[in-house]
Amino acid sequence: MKRTALAVAMSLLSSVAFAGDSPTWGYSGDTGPENWAQLSPEYGACAGSNQSPINLTGFIDAELEPIVFHYENGGSEILNNGHTVQVNVLPGDTITVDDIEFELKQFHFHVPSENLIHGESFPMEGHLVHADEDGNLAVVAVMVTEGEANDALAAAWAQMPEKGETVALTSDISPLGILPSVRDYYRFNGSLTTPPCSEGVRWLVMKQPITASEEQIEQFLDVMDHHHNNRPVQEVNARPVLE
Ligand SMILES: [Zn+2]
Repeated sequence: MKRTALAVAMSLLSSVAFAGDSPTWGYSGDTGPENWAQLSPEYGACAGSNQSPINLTGFIDAELEPIVFHYENGGSEILNNGHTVQVNVLPGDTITVDDIEFELKQFHFHVPSENLIHGESFPMEGHLVHADEDGNLAVVAVMVTEGEANDALAAAWAQMPEKGETVALTSDISPLGILPSVRDYYRFNGSLTTPPCSEGVRWLVMKQPITASEEQIEQFLDVMDHHHNNRPVQEVNARPVLE
């Protein structure tokens, strides 16, 4: 299970859209989210009871320790795998959660947001995907509202790849640029929001959104052929959502 999650984290780094012999999936029609679990035995977890995204509500008060961010490096390349636009980062950027160090592997985006907060959808959501040395995953999610342009996105989108393309980044793109200034967060246990939907993922959702301009969100949608890339919210079931 842990090894599977690590393999997935690493495969997310791959520039190939449909790597190996994993079946094709999408966000609508026969290969859409309702059918992911049936597309392949590998995707069975998509029918699990601890899936992401969710509508975050009914919070339980908890003394959540601040996440310690050690982001000093930045993006190495940007790719468009047909499901999202993703920035792969250089090794060495980490967060510490539960006294465990997780290394940032990549960050990518969804339009509109996948998670909801008190039922509210946001125009975009960023996911910063981290793995610890055992392959456990932690995702920091950042909601994006429409407003001032985001500088990190501007630098990344300046080299926006077409579908199937991977481009080496020529300018410095720090993941700090897509974090809000106040880093209070909600927390729940969930899964990858794309097949194989592996569970056991620590979800850390920033309470404070960042902004991006309407044009920046539009630019993302343009290279996604104007298809939304958000999995619908899943049942919360027995999971507590902490704040
Ligand atoms: Zn994501």
